[in-house]
Amino acid sequence: MDFTITDDQRAFVDTVRKVCQKEFMPRAIQYLDGTWPAENMKRLGDIGVLGMSIPEEYGGSGMGTLDCVLVLEEIGKVCYVTAMGALGEVGAQSRIIAAYAPESIKKKILPRVASGEAMLAICMTEPDAGTDVPNYRTNCEIKGGKVILNGAKTLISRADIAEMFVVFTRVNGVAGAEGIGCVLVPGGIEGLSYNAAYHTMGGENLSDVRFDNIELPLENLIIKDNGMKRLLSAFNVQRCLNPAICLGISEGALEESIKYMRQRKAFGKSIGEFQGMRWKAADMMIQIEAGRGLLYRAAVSGKQFPDPTLAAMAKIYCNEMSIRVTSEAVQVHGGYGFTDEFPVSRFFRGTRYGSLGGGTTETLRNLVSRKLVDQMDLASGVMGLGYF
Ligand SMILES: Cc1cc2nc3c(=O)[nH]c(=O)nc-3n(C[C@H](O)[C@H](O)[C@H](O)COP(=O)(O)OP(=O)(O)OC[C@H]3O[C@@H](n4cnc5c(N)ncnc54)[C@H](O)[C@@H]3O)c2cc1C
Repeated sequence: MDFTITDDQRAFVDTVRKVCQKEFMPRAIQYLDGTWPAENMKRLGDIGVLGMSIPEEYGGSGMGTLDCVLVLEEIGKVCYVTAMGALGEVGAQSRIIAAYAPESIKKKILPRVASGEAMLAICMTEPDAGTDVPNYRTNCEIKGGKVILNGAKTLISRADIAEMFVVFTRVNGVAGAEGIGCVLVPGGIEGLSYNAAYHTMGGENLSDVRFDNIELPLENLIIKDNGMKRLLSAFNVQRCLNPAICLGISEGALEESIKYMRQRKAFGKSIGEFQGMRWKAADMMIQIEAGRGLLYRAAVSGKQFPDPTLAAMAKIYCNEMSIRVTSEAVQVHGGYGFTDEFPVSRFFRGTRYGSLGGGTTETLRNLVSRKLVDQMDLASGVMGLGYF
C-alpha cells in the first residue's frame, strides 16, 4: 500500500490551493443563504477539477480517488458549500454514469460535466426511507420499449440546476434490494418537478423532487436489477470524498485557531502562550493526522473502487473528528467564534453534514462490525497486522 504524494499531485493541489485561498475564501460567507457558488464552480471547471473523475475520452482527466481527496480537502478548508458543489461532480454520480451508461449518454453529458457547464444531481433519499434503500418506493415500469418513472425523493442537492438526475429506483415493482436499479433523468423533462423546500445549517438549499409518469428511452435505465451492490460500491468513492471535506474543514479550523492564538492577547500575553490553548492546537493536529492516515490509505485501496471497510472507517473517524476539532476552534476564538466574524462558526456548521450524508456513521459502524464480528478469521490472525 503506497500513498506517496507525487510531484504532479503536489503541483495540482498547489494550483487549487492558490485559487481557494485567494478567490474562494473571501467569497465563502456569501453562500450561507443558499446562493449557488456559480463563479467558484466555473473556476473549478476551468482549472480541471470538475473532470477529475471523468475518463480522458470524455473530456476529463481520469484521476484516482486520492487525487480527488487531496483537492476536496483544499476546497473544504475554505468553503464547505463549494466543496459540496465539487463533490457532486467528482463523486458518485459522474462515476456511475462513466461506469454504467451507454456510449451515447456518456458522450453527451460527461464533457459538459468536466467543463463545469452541466451539473448532476443524485436522487436516493425518499420521504419515508433514506438509509433503508431496500424499501425505496420510487418505481419504473418497462413498457413497450420505454421506461415510465414515478416516485418522490427528498433532501436533494442542486435539483434546481441539474442537467441530469441519477435516480435510484425500483424496477418493475420487484421488492427488496434485488429490485433496485438506476435510471438517468434529464433535467427539464415533462413530469419532473422540484421545490427548494429546506435551508440547511451548512448554507445550501435542498429540494423535494417528484417524478410523475416520466417517459424515458430504455437506454436511460442503466442498471435494471440487483443494482444496489454495484451502485453502493461506486459509493465507496463518495465515502472517501465526504471525509476529505471534513478533513479539509478541520485543517482550516486549526489554521484559523493558530492565527487567532498568536494575535489575541489576554493577561498581557498572546493566548497561544497559555498551555490550555497550546494543547488544544496539539490535540487538533494529532486528530487531523490520524484522520489523514486512515483516509489516504482507504483512498488507494481496492481495484475499481476503495475497500468498503477501510472507506467506512475513514469516513466515521473524519466525520466525528471534524466536529470535535471545529468545536475546539470555536472555543479558541471565545465569543467571536460563535459569530460570523470568523470562519470557524461556519466550519463547525459545515462538518455536521459529514456523518449524515454518504452513509450515516451508524450504518457504517454496522458495516465495520459485520466484517469484524461475523467474518473475521481468527485462525489466520488477521488482527496481527490489521489491514497491512
Ligand atoms: C446537506 C445534505 C445534502 C444531501 N444531499 C442529498 C442528495 O443530493 N441526494 C440524496 O439522495 N440525499 C441527499 N441527502 C440526504 C442524506 O443522504 C440522508 O439524510 C441520509 O442518507 C440519511 O437518511 P435519512 O435522513 O432518511 O435518515 P434515516 O435513514 O431515517 O436515519 C435516521 C437515523 O437512524 C439511523 N439508522 C437508520 N438505520 C439504522 C440502522 N440499521 N442501524 C443503526 N442506525 C440506523 C441513522 O443512522 C440516523 O441516525 C442530503 C442530506 C444533507 C444533510
